[in-house]
Amino acid sequence: MPHRYSARDRANIFAREKNNAALAGRGRLPICVHCDLPVDPLRSLWDVAHVGAPRCFGGKRVGIGHHGCNSADGRKVTADYAKSNRVHARHIGAAGPGLGRAPMAAGRRSGISRTMDGGLKLRRTGAQKHAAMCAALALHDADGAAVGLWAPAEGGT
Ligand SMILES: [Zn+2]
Repeated sequence: MPHRYSARDRANIFAREKNNAALAGRGRLPICVHCDLPVDPLRSLWDVAHVGAPRCFGGKRVGIGHHGCNSADGRKVTADYAKSNRVHARHIGAAGPGLGRAPMAAGRRSGISRTMDGGLKLRRTGAQKHAAMCAALALHDADGAAVGLWAPAEGGT
């Protein structure tokens, strides 16, 4: 894991949070942003922890957290971040049926389709299927003009 805060940054943030705790009347140790208990650097490891919005969602505010508390929070945030990426991909049309690493052969986004008897044929577009249906029902003549039920009413009003 790449480091994000230098030793000087950590010392400064620790001192700031220690001061904030003292000003709030919470003692002489910084308060963990996750469990609201004091962080004693002689007893437990500690991290610079994001407060409110996590870093991956643009969070900038930081405080001090127990390493265990921050790791547990990070595991939850990682899952949330992965889900947000999945939802985003789906919403922009980059994910969905037939767009995975191994789309199904003759699937809905394929240029071919499988017939009920196991054969293969070229997949028709919706317009092609519609034209074929109209031809089967004789709704259009050879010139494409509507006839039968869909023809304009006689008399022209
Ligand atoms: Zn904690």
